[in-house]
Parts: sequence; structure tokens; C-alpha cells
Amino acid sequence: PVDRSPEIQEARLKLPILAEEQVIMEAINENPIVVICGETGSGKTTQVPQFLYEAGYTSSNGIIGITEPRRVAAVSMSQRVAKEMNLSHRVVSYQIRYEGNVTDETQIKFMTDGVLLKEVQKDFLLLKYKVVIIDEAHERSMYTDILIGLLSRIVPLREKKGLPLKLIIMSATLRVEDFTENTRLFAVTPPVLQVDARQFPVTVHFNKKTPLDDYSGECFRKVCKIHRMLPSGGILVFLTGQAEVHSLCRRLRKAFPFQKNSTAGDDDDRKESVEEMRKFKKSRRRKKAATLPQINLDNYAVVPVDEGDEDRDAETDDDIAGSDVDLDLGDGDSEEEEKSDSSLPLYVLPLYSLLAPEKQAKVFRPPPPGTRLCVVATNVAETSLTIPGIKYVVDCGKVKKRFYDKITGVSSFRVTWISQASANQRAGRAGRTEPGHCYRLYSSAVFMDFEKFSAPEITKRPVEDLILQMKALNIEKVINFPFPTPPPAEALAAAEELLIALGALKEPPMTGRLKEQQAAKLSCPISPLGRVMATFPVAPRYAKMLALSRQHDCLPYTITIVSAMTVRELFEEFDRPAASEEETVKLKGKKGRLVQMQRIWAGQGSLQKLGDLMVMLGAVGACEYSGCTPKFCEENGLRYKAMLEIRRLRGQLTTAVNSVCTDAGLYVDPKMKPPTEAQATYLRQIVLAGLGDHLARRVQAEELLDDKWKNAYKNALLDDPVFIHPSSVLFKQLPEFVVYQEIVETTKLYMKGVSAVEPE
Ligand code: ADP
Ligand code: MG
Repeated sequence: PVDRSPEIQEARLKLPILAEEQVIMEAINENPIVVICGETGSGKTTQVPQFLYEAGYTSSNGIIGITEPRRVAAVSMSQRVAKEMNLSHRVVSYQIRYEGNVTDETQIKFMTDGVLLKEVQKDFLLLKYKVVIIDEAHERSMYTDILIGLLSRIVPLREKKGLPLKLIIMSATLRVEDFTENTRLFAVTPPVLQVDARQFPVTVHFNKKTPLDDYSGECFRKVCKIHRMLPSGGILVFLTGQAEVHSLCRRLRKAFPFQKNSTAGDDDDRKESVEEMRKFKKSRRRKKAATLPQINLDNYAVVPVDEGDEDRDAETDDDIAGSDVDLDLGDGDSEEEEKSDSSLPLYVLPLYSLLAPEKQAKVFRPPPPGTRLCVVATNVAETSLTIPGIKYVVDCGKVKKRFYDKITGVSSFRVTWISQASANQRAGRAGRTEPGHCYRLYSSAVFMDFEKFSAPEITKRPVEDLILQMKALNIEKVINFPFPTPPPAEALAAAEELLIALGALKEPPMTGRLKEQQAAKLSCPISPLGRVMATFPVAPRYAKMLALSRQHDCLPYTITIVSAMTVRELFEEFDRPAASEEETVKLKGKKGRLVQMQRIWAGQGSLQKLGDLMVMLGAVGACEYSGCTPKFCEENGLRYKAMLEIRRLRGQLTTAVNSVCTDAGLYVDPKMKPPTEAQATYLRQIVLAGLGDHLARRVQAEELLDDKWKNAYKNALLDDPVFIHPSSVLFKQLPEFVVYQEIVETTKLYMKGVSAVEPE
């Protein structure tokens, strides 16, 4: 029996899914696999685990596992469910890549999908679970897709063993045909249960015109108008990235000051990428021009035909319909809004994946009395988290995604239009507690051009890590795997090619005809080296480096370098827009200090040739030596959060290595000495072994055909020139041969994580 508090009980009873408890439990009792669809906020994630718990699914040695594609959701949902059930974190727990609070008593375990995939490797039948719930299946994250494929085979195997496993697939939008109508996946179509959400009507207001690039500014203006003109109710703004979120938060706090939160969440403000910086500068330039007496070219207030307003008739909100405010608010600018107005306090909170959990938790609490809540969020608020009290949604219509070139793996972050399904999800956030409004900062014509659904992740990125994991599960013919949506053939081929080159797969014999050879290449078995590599929770290239590093006591260094390469953004970004002259000077000083420190961390002689990787190693070494304090990080331009993540990953990789080489006796040494000259040379060879396909050669003088090749490098995979980024310690040296961690395209194709290679 579960002992819930009266408030929780009351809140639960309002959830539509509670009325369906019996239907859902009957379906689960009678079928091995069930699909549950329901609007975001209907109670799937928080309630279904409780139904199962109360129905006794955890009583005899077996637990309930729930996978989430996002860490945020795994952590916050476990906390919420523990609270609702009045149970300790020892019983309702979570596990994400670096951390968790799972105990022997755990009965309900929330985890990221990647964590469960790793568990399949150790225990293919997932015997410790009685029920596995795959949540947010509509997101189509790569690991979720693979888990569904694997579970489609695991469920019948468990049945045969007489130890049945229940599989529940939960999804927000209805696009379950990829699962249900795929007979290769599920021979018997699983029942699909539809939970009707008590969704209040949401009036959608399209902009008449779509802003060309300054959607952030457009968000600001729209929030200002809502806050000034419309009745109470929380506002949720969708933007694309952390930097944008923070800069809008800052602007809104300035416009509608509310003392208590004036510093909340500002410490993450620094992560502004070059791309955003560029956009920001552009928007500033536009601002300046606008101070001249000039017609505002964005203001279309006199356009007579209201093309985007066909939904207006659906307006049913009696409260507002009587008043004379123009709910449509119109597009574009008006000057007064930049002025600060403290009579209308706005309680502004950021929300994004990397935000610290205690800061994320703020959005679930009621705002201070007399204020209006305004949450500025990235895509995490689209389906994973439900924020109470939201009545207005402002949707910029964009999302930031990483795009990969299928063949070369070159990636870039791009801001693109969302899908229609996403736009509708976002709008739906406004109608949870009462009728709401969604302001789309784009026209209805643009909306009609959106793709219906976004493509599954597995079709969009390199799959070498996935293929190695699958081979480690002895799935040799990856092509025959029951993917809900298979990855493109060229991505599969590129992955096998790379894994063969790394020695992780056994190369097919070079006999027979070319065609047969190619076919054989696509079904190579894993090698002993590959098995070792698969046990490390890092990409195959890095796993190869680890596997080689037993020699000459290089392991602690490789572990540190690999950890640092895996964690995003070690260094603070100081090339960001400053609020004042004073700040500009401060930032310049900090940047100077960081550059100086990087030169020191880069060391000398043979060490220096390790380039950016030596800088990472030196930075982590120095930081740990000083106790890894926020103060040390602040003073030296390091990102404290990144340093903590690196520490955790070092711990995890050290454990992983120790379990493979039981006599290695490795530990994480906070006082690690720099490598010797000789070790640095070995490390360069180890790095080359992992990144061999990422070799680039400087263009020689006699090859300089065109100015665009000045200081450029040539790489076998690419026709275009690639460059060492100015932030690299090797930027001035331009060694003849380099290897790089990855190429990211911004204004040019830049190599990141560069180290020098010397021909023998
Ligand atoms: P679904 O998974 O169907 O999207 P959830 O189970 O996540 O729905 O959420 C159900 C309801 O529980 C939501 O309406 C939300 O208001 C409430 N809720 C979820 N998490 C929290 C939380 N941390 N604090 C307060 N309320 C929450
Ligand atoms: Mg959910």
C-alpha cells in the first residue's frame, strides 16, 4: 500500500490517466508488450510506474525500469515519483551516465536509455527487471530505437524461459506506426492504448510575417506584450540554446525587475558559442541602425489581411473574450519595452538540460506572490518536463541540432525549423490547467512547410559506437537487425569500415569477388580487441586509445585525455558580448590569463607536440592538484562543471580499465605528474592509432593554388580546406601533419582537439 499525502492524492486525481488505470493494467496483464500514447502532461511517466508498483509487479525479486532519452527527465522524474509515493530515494532511484542513487532496495529505477543499453551487454535477458518502460519513444533517440529492437527479441526469450518480462512503450504524439506496423519488429501487433488528455483549448496565433533571424528579439517583444497586456498565467518561451536562454532571461529581468531572482542562474551565462556571438553582433548592429530616424521594416501593423488567424474562431476563453485586449498582440517592435518597469515583476527562470538540478526544480514551484512566472527553455520543455501553470507559450519555431555529414562525420550545429508535431507539442504546453494561447513567431504558411515529424536520430548521425555495441552483443549482420527505422546503408558501411580499421572487427578474407567481399564487410564479427573496446563507455576511437595504453604507464594520461575530449567545453568562453565597458575590460583580462595558462599547460618539447590534448591534460592535472575548487576554475578560465564531469568520467574509466586488466591497479591520482618526454611521444602514437582517419596535412607552398588554401590543411575525406582554430595552441605553429578530434563547421571547417604528428 502506498501512503500518499492528501495534496498529492488530489493532484493525481486530476490526471486523465488515473481514470484509465484499470484498462491499462488489464492490457499489461494480458499482453507482453503494450504501447501507451497520451498528451504530454497526462501522467504517463509519473503514474504508470506507480500503477505497476501497486499491482505488485515489484514484489518478487524483479524491479521496474524506466528509460528516458534525457538525463534531466531521469533525475527529476525519479524525484517526483519518490515524492508522490512517499518513498525514499533508496527505493525510487535513478541512474545516469555519471551518477545515480540506486541501492539494493531499489524497486523503481529511472535511467537514461544509454544506461540500459550497457546493461543489455552484461545481462542480455535483463533478468533483474520485471517490467521495462521505454518512455518518450516518440523522440526516437538512437538508443531508444535500438532498445526497442533488442527488447522485441528479449521479450519472447524471457517468455520461453518462463520468466516473462513486460515491455511498455510510452509516447507523446501519435506516430507509433513505426513500432506497431513493423512486422519485422513485433510479429504480433501490440495493443495501443490512447489516454485522452483533459486538454483545454489552445488558441494558436501565427505571426503575419516571419522574422528573418532575430527571433530572440521577437520573443522578447512578445513576452513584454503578454506581460503588460494579458491576464495572469505563466509564460513558457521556447528558444534553441543555453546562450539564447540566458540572454533573454537577462533582458527580461532588466525590463521587469524582481529583486530576489536578479542573480539566479547567471553563472551559466558564459557558454556562448562563436555562432551565437555572431548572431548577437548582427542583431546589435541592426539595433544601432534603428536609432536613426527610420521606418521600422519589421512592423507590419497595417497589413490588412490576417492570414495567420484562422483559428481565432476557436477562442472559447470566456474570461478573456469579454475584455477588449487584442489577444493577437501583433508582430514586431515597439520602443517602450526596453524601459525598466518594476511595477510588474516577472519571475524569470531558465530551463535547459545542462542546468543544475536544483535550479531546474525551481520551475515546478509556484512563483513568489505578486509575480508572473516566465520560463525560458530549450527543447527540454517540449515533452520531457511539464511545468505547472503555463497559460501562454511563445514558440520561436526553431531548434538547435547537430548535423553530421554521413560520410565524413564532419558536424555542425544548426538552428532549423521544428516539425509540425513539435510545434503542436509546444502549443499543447499552454492548455494544461486552463485554456491557453500559443504565439508562433512565424506565419502559418511557414508552418505548412514544416516537415510533419522530425527524422529519427539513428538516420542522422554516425553509428560506429552503436555498431560496436551491437557486435559486442554478437549481432553480426547488423543489416538484419529489427530497427524501427534503419540507419542509411552508407552510414552502416562507414561504421564497419572504421571499426575494421581500428581492429575492433575481424577483417573478412580478401578472396572471392568484390561484391562478396563487400557483403562480408557488412557482417564482420567482433575481435577480442573490439570486445575490450566495447566495455569502455566512450566512442570507439577513444576506446582504442585506452586499449593501447597499458604500455609505458600511459593509462592514467590516456584516461584523462579521453575524459577531457568527451566532455564538452572545458574552457570558459570569453569572446562573448559584454554588458558594459567595464565588463569588456574584465573579459579581455580573463581571456589573456586563459591564453597564458594554456601555454603553460601545453608544456614544452615533446609534450608540446601533443598540442590541444596536452593543454587538456595539463588543465585537468593542475585543477585536480589544487583540489578542483570553483575558485581555481574561476581564476584560470576553466568550467567548473566540466571539470567535475571529467573527474567522474576518469573514475568510471579507471574502474572499467581495472575490470579488464585486473592487475593494473589503477586509481585516480589527484597529484598526477606530467608525462615524461618519452611518454608524451608514446601518447602521440596512441592518439594517432585512435584518430588515424583524422589525419590532415598542411598544404605545401607549391600546392597553393588559391588564397582560400592559405594556412589550410588537406584531409583525405574532404575536398575543402580545413583549418586549425585560432584558439588551438598549435594555431601559430602549423605543424606539417596533425590529427584532430573532430571537425566542426562554423565560418570555416575547423579542426578541434589538434595534436602534431611527425613522420618517422
Ligand atoms: P506525461 O509523462 O504524460 O507527460 P507526467 O507524468 O510527466 O506526464 O506529468 C503529470 C503531471 O504531473 C503534470 O501535469 C505535472 O504538472 C505534474 N508534475 C510532473 N512533475 C512534477 C514536479 N516535479 N513537480 C510538480 N508537478 C509535477
Ligand atoms: Mg512523460
